[in-house]
Amino acid sequence: MVSSSKKLSIIIIWFMTWPIGMYTLYTNSSFTYSGYELDIISFIVLASIIALFPLLIGDHPVFFTHGISFAVFLYFGLFVEVLVTQIALIILMIKVRVGLAGLYRVPLNQLLFFVVSVCSALIYYILGGDHGREALNSFSDIIPILAYPIVQIIINQLLISSVSRHVHGKETKWFDQGVIWELLTTMLVAPVGLMLYILYAQIGAAAIYVIGLPFIFISIMLLLYHNSKRVNEYLQKTGDIGHELTGNYSVKEILDIFIDRVSSMLPLDYIYVFDVVPGRCIKLIRFYDRSGRMNFPNIELGPGESISGDTWAMEKGRHYHAKKDWKHLQSEYTPEGGESVLSIPISRNSEIVSIITLYSNKKRAFMKYQYMILTILGSYLTVAIENARHHEKAKSENERCPLTGLYNYRFFEKYVAEMSNQFAEAQIKEPASMILLDIDHFKSVNDTYGHESGNEILCQLGERLINAVSSQGIVARYGGEEFVILLPQCSTERALRLAEKIRQAISGESFLSYAHMLSGQTPKKIHITASIGVATYPDHCEELIEITRLADRAMYVGAKQSGRNRVAGYENMRQTVE
Ligand code: GH3
Ligand code: MG
Ligand code: MG
Repeated sequence: MVSSSKKLSIIIIWFMTWPIGMYTLYTNSSFTYSGYELDIISFIVLASIIALFPLLIGDHPVFFTHGISFAVFLYFGLFVEVLVTQIALIILMIKVRVGLAGLYRVPLNQLLFFVVSVCSALIYYILGGDHGREALNSFSDIIPILAYPIVQIIINQLLISSVSRHVHGKETKWFDQGVIWELLTTMLVAPVGLMLYILYAQIGAAAIYVIGLPFIFISIMLLLYHNSKRVNEYLQKTGDIGHELTGNYSVKEILDIFIDRVSSMLPLDYIYVFDVVPGRCIKLIRFYDRSGRMNFPNIELGPGESISGDTWAMEKGRHYHAKKDWKHLQSEYTPEGGESVLSIPISRNSEIVSIITLYSNKKRAFMKYQYMILTILGSYLTVAIENARHHEKAKSENERCPLTGLYNYRFFEKYVAEMSNQFAEAQIKEPASMILLDIDHFKSVNDTYGHESGNEILCQLGERLINAVSSQGIVARYGGEEFVILLPQCSTERALRLAEKIRQAISGESFLSYAHMLSGQTPKKIHITASIGVATYPDHCEELIEITRLADRAMYVGAKQSGRNRVAGYENMRQTVE
């Protein structure tokens, strides 16, 4: 963003220099214009028409009026050249719709082009250049005529990079794509300009039609070529992103990649990705604000509500160029400065599954082909998300116990085995402890209160364990009413303290059973206790993988056989056994 003080300075500098500059050029011009008014107007019209077909290289428009202004310069001199260039420039600025926030670019560019015109003219004069019919009537005239367009490119590029640095605060490469296009177009248009001059000097205004018209066609053709090349590049990039998205990622990673790639590819300021909750609403699952000012808004939209809700309800994509086109859909959920909008529904098996909506703060920011590209990317995104969700679900079914949601035996065994291998390979000797817990007389709990109540207790016990352990380790349901806790980087003493805390958390507060509860009744309170064993690597075993067996022995011999509802460390148990 360019600060308002910089914009203001640009306008002040313009007021102080541009009108005086133009006036000075006019009064100092030695050319007598009378009789040439119509010709000059024709040149201005020609240059203006050509300015309507600019190529956009990145943010920087390249246009072909150089050719016309070159011919004009050679014949009429600096003042008319500046006049033609400045008018064509204004036409160009209108065409690319700089918008209110970019309005400062008009005086800025006028100043830049003014300096370029004056400097290249100065070099032209220093090298002995002339105007009118004398501009090209001897062999030595070739030198200033050749130098003129070259000097133009050099000064133009110098000015652009210094403006990038001082006004926009961007370091630009000296030799970027813009320069290449500038060189190419100059090589193409400078000879045409020279021909236009020669013919004009010979046959007068008819030359403008003979050369001018084909020149307009060349501009249009180049524009078409450039645009088709750009669309191809976009499509290629889109394909690459599609490949990237369908790699094996989590839903979060997929959305991260999508947001990152789309925001660098399209000229947008906001991205909204909604999930469809069928028959109910669309729910925002991802949000992006280029300025970083807005936090993730919690949005749920009904059918027809706001732009995204409308896209969902109408099952039809939208492409708006300015706010006035979607004023009727404006709501607290549409971003404040938004102007251009692309909003698309994405279907899977003929059902809409998501809505993607992009906003730009600029008017007419999105082209038709960008709408198409978003549609393709949207489908890639949905397929990738669906795969990832499927994968995540399958994974969780494999790893978790469906009753308590804790890790299951299979996961836990694998986890300990992998960790054990790592420890062995890296010869890690830092302590890791295991707590193994078995509910006392659980069979009689089932017999007394019913299997369903038993299940409720197992679930609540799982929650109590998770709360007690929190981030210190992982909790798994090892068997029917047996639970294990693996505590990395945990000494025996600390594990014993935690085990005691857990024992008290179980015996200290009754569990509640809601099963078979009639309305108005309070839940049944069920008191249970547990026997707990603790073992530690490397204190009690050579390899981590043995630790479960030791904790189980500690539980059985040290706690169960010694009267239940107690904690036993493997160490103490060994002493009691020996
Ligand atoms: P103790 O461990 O104190 O020796 O006695 P216990 O009754 O707990 O011993 P045992 O290991 O013989 O019995 C375990 C019981 O746990 C058997 C079964 O009824 C119950 N059980 C195992 N899995 C589940 C389950 O998923 N839900 C319910 N409700 N009960 C289960
Ligand atoms: Mg048991
Ligand atoms: Mg038991």
